Amino acid sequence: MGVVADRWRPAWADIDLDAVRHNAGILSRLVAPAALCAVVKADGYGHGDLAVAKAALEGGATWLAVALVEEGVALREAGIEAPILLLSEPPVGGMAEAVARRLVPTVYTAGGLEALSRVVAEAELPSVAVHLKVDTGMHRVGADPADALALADAIAADHRLELGAVWTHLAVADGDDPDDRDFTALQLDRFDTIVGALTAAGHRPPMTHVANTAGTIGVAASRHDMVRCGLALYGMTPTPALASALSDATGGLRLEPVLSLRSRVTHVRDLATGERPSYGRRRPLAVHSTVATVPVGYADGVPRRLFDQGGEVLIGGARRPLAGVVTMDQIVVDCGPVGSAPVALGDEVVLIGRQGTEEITAGEWAELLGTISYEVLCNIGPRVPRILHGQHPDPSS
Ligand SMILES: *Cc1c(COP(=O)(O)O)cnc(C)c1O
Repeated sequence: MGVVADRWRPAWADIDLDAVRHNAGILSRLVAPAALCAVVKADGYGHGDLAVAKAALEGGATWLAVALVEEGVALREAGIEAPILLLSEPPVGGMAEAVARRLVPTVYTAGGLEALSRVVAEAELPSVAVHLKVDTGMHRVGADPADALALADAIAADHRLELGAVWTHLAVADGDDPDDRDFTALQLDRFDTIVGALTAAGHRPPMTHVANTAGTIGVAASRHDMVRCGLALYGMTPTPALASALSDATGGLRLEPVLSLRSRVTHVRDLATGERPSYGRRRPLAVHSTVATVPVGYADGVPRRLFDQGGEVLIGGARRPLAGVVTMDQIVVDCGPVGSAPVALGDEVVLIGRQGTEEITAGEWAELLGTISYEVLCNIGPRVPRILHGQHPDPSS
């Protein structure tokens, strides 16, 4: 990562691995007999990919998925034996490593198949199962439906390759307006047509998979043989409606957020009415106020715009607004009129997570900032140490 997590600054992310097990358990029971593939790309959405991968497997996932060959290699080097799906076709330069590490390659181009076949031959390995991805409307990566049959023919004609699965990805499974629902139905129809044509031509795939978190929860017909869940594993749904849908489908079960971003008060001042803390002197204090400084900033993934958008933190079990703009390494918090609620050096500050009966979620930040919880989580930087809770001892050690 290039940045060593700090040891003395009190700012950290607690990662609740029991919550990962709980979430994986809910998802795997919901979709059974379909399998759960735990998506741990981008360092497990910022939570730590290895710890999350292990906990997800313990909780009921049987597959893992990553975006990069590099991510899959790191999991193999750490001793993970479960199947690891690469969500995009590996770059030609990474094919040999992908095959040597038994990563399951996604393919969607003739060139990708040729490169794969070549590295299998050079390494004198047994045949490799590939997951053929078709584009049914997301238009990011995947084979044109018109090319799917030729690609399946090429796989069948090459004794070094096998068809392990056919899959696609949904673009608007989280949308609940009629246009989005229609588009998801259209994608599912197109996918069925492609799989039907391949099967009729003698290329029956052993497995098909389609659903991300939104599809898994909201579109039962998208579950197929395996679901690829990221966000739900981390305890969140793309929309509040999907949290309700999950609760309805499971007799009231709820996902548990996995990550909490916490810090401590490192400086406290009483400031006169009208003083304007932080860069830009943006907002005057309405009254003689206590202002606390907390050592976490935009370099750690607390967006600078959180101040403008009314961002709050929890101190002493209460919501407290930011008193000025977020700086690179620190924030200032308006703790209210002097004497109203004592704030002391060392008091715990929750940026994301629970304190007492209050909770601030990554979804709340996303709502304020006009983004999605995925981006909030991925932006929590490498300078923030991840403290793992609920780790099971490694049976091999
Ligand atoms: C990231 C990703 C997923 C997981 O999406 P979530 O919404 O986090 O569940 C699934 N499939 C593909 C192809 C992805 O890139």
